[in-house]
Amino acid sequence: MEHTYTVSYEGYISKQVNITKAFSSEAFEQKYTYQGDDLGAVYSAEKTNFRVWAPTAEKVVINFYEAGDGDCLIESADMTAAEKGTWTYEKTGDSHGIYYTYSVTVNGNTKEAVDPYAKAVGVNGNRGMVIDLDATDPEGFDKDIKPKFENMTDAVIYELHVRDLSSDASSGIENVGKFLGLTETGTTNSEGLATGLDHMKDLGVTHVHLLPSYDYATVDETNLESDQFNWGYDPKNYNVPEGSYSTDPYNGAVRVEEYKKMVQALHENGIRVIMDVVYNHTYNTEDSNFQKIVPDYYYRMNGEMYSNASGCGNETASERSMMRKFMVDSVVYWATEYHVDGFRFDLMGVHDMETMKEIRTALNEIDSSIIIYGEGWTSGDSTLPETERAVKANTYQMEGIAAFSDDIRDGIKGNVFDSLNKGFVNGGENMEEAIKYSIVGATENSQIDYDSYEKSNGWWAGSPEQTINYASCHDNLTLWDKLATSNSEDSEEDRIKMNKLSSAIVFTSQGIPFLQAGEEMLRSKVQEDGTFSENSYNLPDSVNSIKWDNKGNTMEVYDYYKGLIALRKAHPAFCMTTTEDVQNNITFQNVGDSNVVAYTINNSPNSEKAESIFVAYNANKEDITLELPEGKWNLYVNGETAGTEVLYSVSGAVTISPISAVVLIKEESGVFHMSTSTAVVIGVVAAVIVCAAIVIGLAKNKKKMKRNL
Ligand code: CA
Repeated sequence: MEHTYTVSYEGYISKQVNITKAFSSEAFEQKYTYQGDDLGAVYSAEKTNFRVWAPTAEKVVINFYEAGDGDCLIESADMTAAEKGTWTYEKTGDSHGIYYTYSVTVNGNTKEAVDPYAKAVGVNGNRGMVIDLDATDPEGFDKDIKPKFENMTDAVIYELHVRDLSSDASSGIENVGKFLGLTETGTTNSEGLATGLDHMKDLGVTHVHLLPSYDYATVDETNLESDQFNWGYDPKNYNVPEGSYSTDPYNGAVRVEEYKKMVQALHENGIRVIMDVVYNHTYNTEDSNFQKIVPDYYYRMNGEMYSNASGCGNETASERSMMRKFMVDSVVYWATEYHVDGFRFDLMGVHDMETMKEIRTALNEIDSSIIIYGEGWTSGDSTLPETERAVKANTYQMEGIAAFSDDIRDGIKGNVFDSLNKGFVNGGENMEEAIKYSIVGATENSQIDYDSYEKSNGWWAGSPEQTINYASCHDNLTLWDKLATSNSEDSEEDRIKMNKLSSAIVFTSQGIPFLQAGEEMLRSKVQEDGTFSENSYNLPDSVNSIKWDNKGNTMEVYDYYKGLIALRKAHPAFCMTTTEDVQNNITFQNVGDSNVVAYTINNSPNSEKAESIFVAYNANKEDITLELPEGKWNLYVNGETAGTEVLYSVSGAVTISPISAVVLIKEESGVFHMSTSTAVVIGVVAAVIVCAAIVIGLAKNKKKMKRNL
């Protein structure tokens, strides 16, 4: 049966039409694209105005309730058809704390839905709530200042699940599993070592990236005493914080206030906040709020089936104007109301590039330091043409938006879909080119042999600011579990070396470094039967939680990560912002197919310091010795230690111990190293002076000549 539909609103289309064609038509877009900024409930103490976009509805009724659940209807009222397919209602008086829904009738079927623009909801997100947002601002929130952050490559991103931080008793955190758990300072494990916020601060990360923290569907907020867990890639209400992370999911204002307190506390401690956003699909399809209000508009159809590029049963249609507007409005709302500093787009490849660019433009108007990145792939085929998708291969076309580099992720320690597959650090052969590809941040570089590196078809990042470098994230095995699986024959001592070498590659490569929380403490997701979880999305806290009591045993690894982060921050040469800088300054050493990669950063672009840097990674189980360029080199990183202190100095050659990295710096004290821009300015000024001198000279000559005549 062909998927057909009657669009009756204002008689726009009265006959049966193919719905996909109708909603994608220029005529529909022109007639029904609503541009206003007042969708949802606009609150004031005197009145609240409601507006919902429902162009195919015959009738829309607004229902008011005393609470977010239960049989407590106050009244219902008809909404009025208004411009561009919207429906409006004005309620006089102070409606803060009143819950509401819309009953939308399309083709004779009436369904009750939550406002997609709801800013607060009741328990389990089944009713919207009118909210006085100003009243939810914690004290001093109007004076909240984002921690200083300039170039995207200055970021060090820490990927964290809200609950994992505090759900193990060893966290010492009082607000277990809550947003407020991220506000607690002075917390320690049983040995007195810092946990939680203090730990992140000490590690030196600049951004905490929270796994979904908007309201998701699968954790029952009425039963929080039971053992429930979910990552949250099951979106329900996009513009509302998740209720299970609040101290009271029944009162819609509490989660809003506590989310703001979390952002404020992180900002006060020098850490910015990134939200993981999942606009690519909704948890429910037929019963989603989108589908109840405007059936079939928000999803891509493939014949009579829902297209399923998300792998979760549906995919949203970002190319349609009102879905695109919804996404833009949603991120703008989080950035302004909650002071969120960045967005990580789940399955960004499902979205069209135009929408992603509009999101970048809209966020630039608020603050261009807001970071945007995403997964440049889909989880299934999409009806959207590949050329329009925000996939990795198209990243260079989306300025100001970065994509995860699965090149570095798999190049370092092997393919994530094959637990036994090995990468550079754990004994994989012929991985040198993959590592070189990653060192230049997947940007265009004549030193990379693209023919011998087949994973990606050539370069994909327009600059290092578009590349997220990582070895592990919430998906797949943790780095430590991967090494235990792929390298079970190796000693724990060797696997620790592999882990440290992995981190050295991530933090010295050009691009934006990223790590899964706990990677710096050899995080493991071991299950009751002793196996490692590759997909812990709904497993209990016992698997997912961060085990803070492991910190003491793994201090060597923690200190190494901390030292690498400090080193990176101290040397902008690791944080280049342009492809040209990378091309002009990084020179790979010719070491052949030796399980070794070595390179120099010849100058330090981006920096006023005069220095050259030598970096080498040795994946062999034997020492290797490499010749150094001339001069005295200070060693900052070796297999044991990393940081900003000189460990020793060498000239001529350096010996690199088994499975380890070295970073050496030749510091040219007393020599002022000009940045390119300074040199250009000085050059231009000099040229102007010379030109002026010539002109004056010519003029004088002319005068002379005149006089001579
Ligand atoms: Ca929820």
